Amino acid sequence: MISRFSKAFLFIVLLLFLLGSIVLLHPPSRAYIDPWTGDLFGEGGVEKELQHPAGTGGKAVHGGVIMSKLGNATAKAELGRATWKLLHTMTLRYPEEPTQDQRDALDSYFHLFSRLYPCGECAAEFQQLLKNYPPQTSSRRAAATWLCFVHNQVNARLHKPDFDCANLDATYDCGCGDEPVGSSAPAVQAENDPMDMETDPSKDATTGVGMIKGGR
Ligand SMILES: Cc1cc2nc3c(=O)[nH]c(=O)nc-3n(C[C@H](O)[C@H](O)[C@H](O)COP(=O)(O)OP(=O)(O)OC[C@H]3O[C@@H](n4cnc5c(N)ncnc54)[C@H](O)[C@@H]3O)c2cc1C
Repeated sequence: MISRFSKAFLFIVLLLFLLGSIVLLHPPSRAYIDPWTGDLFGEGGVEKELQHPAGTGGKAVHGGVIMSKLGNATAKAELGRATWKLLHTMTLRYPEEPTQDQRDALDSYFHLFSRLYPCGECAAEFQQLLKNYPPQTSSRRAAATWLCFVHNQVNARLHKPDFDCANLDATYDCGCGDEPVGSSAPAVQAENDPMDMETDPSKDATTGVGMIKGGR
C-alpha cells in the first residue's frame, strides 16, 4: 500500500515533469530587427503582427506621457521659452499647401512631442489640450494660428497675458527668407547630388575646409 507521503511525492514529480515538457515544447521566442529591411523577425519568420501600425494612428505616437515631473521652476521656464520658439517657428515655416504626408507628419510630431516633452506635468496638460483642440494641419496659417491659440490656453492657465495672434509673423520672423512653395526639396537634393562634379564633396561648401575622412 502506498503511503500518503509517497502519493504526494509522486504527484509533485509528475507535475514537475509536465511543466518541464511544456517549457521545452514552447521555448521563449526570440525576435530581432533586420538592420537592412527593418523587418521584425522571430523564429518563425517575419512577425507582421508585432510591427507598429503605420500612419498617424500608431500606438507609439498616441501613447501616454513618458517623462517625470520637472521640479526646477527656472529650468521649466527656460525650456518652455525655447520650446515655444521652436514650435512657433516650425508652424510659421510649414508649407502653405501641405501634402497629406506633410499633414500626417505635423500631427504625429505634436502627439509624439506631447509624450516626450521633458516636463512631465506640462506634457500631461498639453495632451489634454491636444484632445480638446486637435492640431490643425491644413495650411501654414491654420497650423500657426492653432498653435498660437493653444499657447494662449497655457498662458491662461499660468495667469500670463493673452498674446495677439495677429502679431505672429512679426514676432517669429527668423530672417530665414521665404522659399517659393514646392521648390525647397529639389533645391536641397541638387546641392547634395553626388553625381554633380561641379562641387567637391570632400570640402565644406561654405568654408572650403577639407572634411575629416572615416566612418561609414
Ligand atoms: C507645451 C508646453 C506646456 C507647458 N506647460 C507648462 C505647465 O504646465 N506649467 C508651467 O509652469 N510651465 C509650462 N510651460 C512653460 C510655460 O508655457 C512658459 O514657457 C514659461 O513659463 C516661460 O514663460 P514666459 O512668460 O517667458 O513666456 P512663454 O509663454 O514661454 O512665451 C515666450 C514668448 O512667446 C510669445 N508668446 C506668448 N504667448 C504666445 C502665443 N500664444 N503665441 C505665440 N507667441 C506667444 C511671447 O513673446 C513670449 O515672450 C509649458 C511649455 C510648453 C512648451
